[in-house]
Amino acid sequence: MPGRQGHVARKRFGQNFLVDDGVIAAIVAAVAPRRSDTVIEIGPGLGALTAPLLDRLDHLHVAEIDRDLIARLRRQWPPDRLTVHEGDVLELDVSALGNGLRVVGNLPYNISSPLLFHLAGHAAHIRDIHVMLQKEVVERIVAAPGDSAFSRLSVMLQYRFAMELLFEVPPEAFDPAPQVDSAVVRLIPHAALPHPARDEAVFARVVSQAFSQRRKTLRNTLKGVADAALLERLGIDPGARAQELSVADFVRLADAVGAPG
Ligand code: SAM
Repeated sequence: MPGRQGHVARKRFGQNFLVDDGVIAAIVAAVAPRRSDTVIEIGPGLGALTAPLLDRLDHLHVAEIDRDLIARLRRQWPPDRLTVHEGDVLELDVSALGNGLRVVGNLPYNISSPLLFHLAGHAAHIRDIHVMLQKEVVERIVAAPGDSAFSRLSVMLQYRFAMELLFEVPPEAFDPAPQVDSAVVRLIPHAALPHPARDEAVFARVVSQAFSQRRKTLRNTLKGVADAALLERLGIDPGARAQELSVADFVRLADAVGAPG
């Protein structure tokens, strides 16, 4: 069982290290890497996933922010096997690593939503993503319209990815144990967007505005963006709340709002 090797876990970097060999093996099996795949692991930490991934890969990219951990990683693997991207992964241009990129990671939970948005912005270069997240976040991203967990994150990610919860992971699988349950999710970018928006910036703005006050009806949250008459013309009930709309509804709405004239 991998230990912490004298490293003191840093809370501010969301450090909960995987120590359960069964869970580690299950993640690697879900990824099923082929030797020549281009893979980036986000937050390799002490290498719990890095080592078994490197057993199956010629080369691996990792993005790590903690300088102590970066030094350890560099001591453990030579640069022709492991490329370490130092610093905040939110600032890393993952598209520069090439096409067909595979993303893996036991993510720092404090940045999981911005990180998923960041990856969504690079979806054209990504083949798939396998990540461990807080279970509650996974439930939000895979939620269906009408579910109480259906949120801005659900709409924005479902717009771009097909998603599947693979398995749940209990706190005891980590050291230190987090206070929440976790789950591993697979995201695969849609080959062709099922509901492409004419202007994705407008789409993002409308979704964000609609969810800005979850308890309020669209008639209220979309004031100044879309009036009740427009909503009705689009077949959307102005008395509905954002979590009742599908991705297709949001795209129809954004296209109507953003239409010239
Ligand atoms: N992969 C290891 C494991 O499963 O044991 C560590 C996972 S730990 C939950 C998250 C890792 O992400 C830590 O190594 C942490 O230092 C790193 N990290 C946190 N914030 C980061 C950021 N903004 N950019 C890159 N790495 C980050």
